[in-house]
Amino acid sequence: MAETRSSRPAADPAEWESYISDFRRAGHNTVDWIADYLANVRKMPVLASTKPGELFDALPAEAPKEGETFESILSDFDRLVMPAVAQWNHPRFFAYFACTGSTPAILGEMLAAALNTNGLHWKTSPAVAELEQRTLDWLRQWLGLPEKPEPWFGIVYDTASTSSMHAIVCAREMVAPEARTEGSRGDLVLYTSDQSHSSIEKGAIAVGVGQNNIRKVPSDENFRMETSALSELIERDKAAGKRPFCMVATIGTTSSTSVDPLPKIAAIAEKHGMWLHVDAAYAGAAAMLPEYKDILAGVERAHSLVFNAHKWLLTPIDLSAFFTRRPDILRRAFSLTPEYLKTQEDPRAHNLMDYGVPLGHRFRALKLWFVLRYFGRNRIEAMLRQHIRWAQDFAALVKADPERRFEVVAPAPFSVVCFRYRGIDEQNRAIMERVNQSGRVFISGTVLNSQQVIRLAIGNLGTTWSDVEEAWELLKRAADEIR
Ligand code: PLP
Repeated sequence: MAETRSSRPAADPAEWESYISDFRRAGHNTVDWIADYLANVRKMPVLASTKPGELFDALPAEAPKEGETFESILSDFDRLVMPAVAQWNHPRFFAYFACTGSTPAILGEMLAAALNTNGLHWKTSPAVAELEQRTLDWLRQWLGLPEKPEPWFGIVYDTASTSSMHAIVCAREMVAPEARTEGSRGDLVLYTSDQSHSSIEKGAIAVGVGQNNIRKVPSDENFRMETSALSELIERDKAAGKRPFCMVATIGTTSSTSVDPLPKIAAIAEKHGMWLHVDAAYAGAAAMLPEYKDILAGVERAHSLVFNAHKWLLTPIDLSAFFTRRPDILRRAFSLTPEYLKTQEDPRAHNLMDYGVPLGHRFRALKLWFVLRYFGRNRIEAMLRQHIRWAQDFAALVKADPERRFEVVAPAPFSVVCFRYRGIDEQNRAIMERVNQSGRVFISGTVLNSQQVIRLAIGNLGTTWSDVEEAWELLKRAADEIR
């Protein structure tokens, strides 16, 4: 039976005092809980073993009539919710793109929630607008986005999917501004590689481009967009009366982390007057390393770029940084101010609601500001290098398997290795299932060249080389078992 609280109105001074003191006590306990959780997460199973519907059924069908105590809520959180949580913060979470909800970001997130400040326009929260602009400019410098020929404007959205959708709207605004008032005529065509993330196609569908007007350009043997095929497709579409308007290149594709040839793609986009968007959601982080600077060569010719701090930059979901050299177009596409929100114009006062679909603007940048300051560039670079080195070492282990059971199937330029058991797809899936069932690691797969592939993605701050070695041992054991 849950403990209940008094139901006096909060404005009652005694009630208000107990409201604050309850929070103080439970807040301290919760921070202790978080510290213990982070200290011990590696001892937990990576994946939840809950069955579908189990948590839903265990939760009361109706919300409580009387308020409950924090103790009661936190106890149910531990007892009911935690077993159903997949531990993305686990050092042996090697699936998708591994990530980290780091401690400075947790504090930043907590403060943002406490302030509950909404930066829809500058006046409603100067701190949200200005700290975001400064933090994103720090990030821009670290990513090496050059200030010339035009400065980059940055804005924080929730996810890369949202960021890329905004890029597609900008592309339409630049090439076919009449679409804003008249709607799409169905002649605008978007180009991206067959390896690009599904969010590009989804974004294009959402803004009315239509799936038939999305060209998935074939990629080469290293999963990089074939620029000759791209040029041919564009010429064919133009001859058929279509209007190429948007080009999306990926730096670090989701399946194999391949890097599209940006300088060549930029030249083609320029030739045809298209908007060029760069999806560097995951691998953008590597551009901070001087030795990886080249992955963004040509970016000064792109119109926009997305990078997710919630992937390889120590920031808990969600924080997607969208940069554009054409904020004028972004603003033209999205500025629609109702009377009740009109404010005085000032060139230094950014009204963030003018730069995207959402009106409300969360203080997301605060957690990134905490991350960049707490770790500093050197510490972050050291982590990125370590992850890249371990991915290479892991690929070397796979290649050196004395029994030659596995093969590496794609270049591994960053912290992800794609490999497969030299057998049929079913066997590869069975190996992944066995390894994941152990609860010790979580790895995921993909399909490359029509074959089932296993992916190992390193990206968590707490990961050690022995964690990676353990994954390899489990993979070999599973291969023996399925044989
Ligand atoms: N772009 C790339 C290259 C990705 O790998 C992903 C997700 O993994 C996305 C975009 C979508 O990211 P989000 O979940 O932030 O929308």
